[in-house]
Amino acid sequence: MTTHGIDPAALAAALRDFRSAVGAANVFDGEEDRLAYSDHYSPDETRHMPGAAVAPSSVEEVQAIVRIANRHKVPLWPISRGKNFGYGGAAPVLKGSVVLDLSRMKRIEVDRENGTVLVEPGVGFFDLYDHLQKNGIPLWLSVPGNSWGSVAGNALDRGVGYTSYGDHAARICGLEVVLPEGGLVRTGMGAMQGSSTWQLYRNGYGPGWDTMFCQSNFGIVTKLGLWLMPEPETVLGLDFEFDKPDDLGWAIDTIMPLRREGVIQQSPSMGNWLRSAAVMTTREQWTKDKGPLDEKVVTAIRKQFNIGWWSVQVRFFGPAEITEASMKVLRRAFDKKPVLAIKEARWKRGDPPEGSPSSGVPVSFPLANANWHGGRGGHTGYSPVLPPRGDLAMDQFRRTYDLYAKFGMDYHASFAMGDRSLTNVNQILFDRDDPEMMRRVDGFFRALVADAKAKGYGEYRTHIEYMDLVAQTYDYGGHALLRLNERVKDALDPNGIVAPGKSGIWPARYREKKA
Ligand code: ADP
Repeated sequence: MTTHGIDPAALAAALRDFRSAVGAANVFDGEEDRLAYSDHYSPDETRHMPGAAVAPSSVEEVQAIVRIANRHKVPLWPISRGKNFGYGGAAPVLKGSVVLDLSRMKRIEVDRENGTVLVEPGVGFFDLYDHLQKNGIPLWLSVPGNSWGSVAGNALDRGVGYTSYGDHAARICGLEVVLPEGGLVRTGMGAMQGSSTWQLYRNGYGPGWDTMFCQSNFGIVTKLGLWLMPEPETVLGLDFEFDKPDDLGWAIDTIMPLRREGVIQQSPSMGNWLRSAAVMTTREQWTKDKGPLDEKVVTAIRKQFNIGWWSVQVRFFGPAEITEASMKVLRRAFDKKPVLAIKEARWKRGDPPEGSPSSGVPVSFPLANANWHGGRGGHTGYSPVLPPRGDLAMDQFRRTYDLYAKFGMDYHASFAMGDRSLTNVNQILFDRDDPEMMRRVDGFFRALVADAKAKGYGEYRTHIEYMDLVAQTYDYGGHALLRLNERVKDALDPNGIVAPGKSGIWPARYREKKA
């Protein structure tokens, strides 16, 4: 499905029209441009190589581009900043699509009193952080571990962070969207001309459409409303280290009840030793052997960096009376349990920023994990969702661990505890300069997806290469949901212009070719 040719004459004509719409300087179709917008973490960049890129600076220019694309039937792949590494970066599912790069659109409107922001797609986490700091606005971001992407793109792809605002898609409040035929719509209260509650009340009137534009190809988001956390009076928390792989199960069963009750309001993410180590060291510093990692090596790395086999951070945000009381409840829950080490974290208003994602400060050092194997590194994410039970997490861990071993890869995983679910985020770290290793990655990924499917677990997000594969696992009623998505797609996008293949949703004309 990834290799349908785009008619070269149609592309050339569209590029001519794009140039007159947005200026030649904002249309990129050289070999180096295509490479710049390709997926730098993929085993084979050519499979999803874009045909060109175009970078508008306003909503009107986005609409003009969409109308041109419809005229020439040339597909567009919208990106905000295109840093979605592990899931495809800036690259499209369908080879030859034109990347619609929205990174020049960088307007920020903060409602200081109500704690909301309206961002254009090009606003990065660092941009918004700087804006808040520079203007002395006491609002905090929730940032993903690696924060060099955009606020809007990350929320639209259901990215996550570590504060109590960490479910980014759940904090969206109101969108402005260019529809696939070029029309413009505002969702929620923004549907009323002159509304003063667009970013304040999520439901609007009638059906709500914000989630319809997440992980979808139903429109191009040009403004996104988001709730921000008022700067808390205190942040308190505990960092736990655990000694043994088997500690995962009981630790989850200890934390989850507090999560469900709302004592803990962020999603603690319990990660294995490699999650911590891969950003601080490289494999080569410990062993020259390319085979499975010896437990002795693992122990030596853990000792050097003082990390458990698993570790998890829990954080509370708010007035001191509340966070202190919550800490007591957390300590009581872990009383007499075999924890390897516990460290307390304390921050109060006026202290220098903690400098970490758990206090909403953007960072990019986690990118270093691509260096683990050396060479031109990269990774792919595999992230099934489980019921929040320790025994199921242990079972998931053991099966996945065995598959990592079978395919000769180093286990790198975490379990993020949501209000009612566990998301098991696994990274497959690789060296793109090691062809033998790269040959194993595809089979490994497919084995992981099949393994989760056999347990009835689906993934929350996936790489562009596997969007069809994962969509196929959502098979209730003979893929009834996929058929619904296709009907909506065909109604909104009859020419199949916006992101064909995103989340496994193909417009009619590509489905027909496939058939
Ligand atoms: P980031 O800027 O955080 O790196 P990306 O720009 O890579 O995020 O976007 C992540 C994914 O979300 C993209 O692959 C794209 O499918 C989708 N997306 C991003 N921005 C938009 C947008 N403005 N409208 C519609 N979909 C978008």
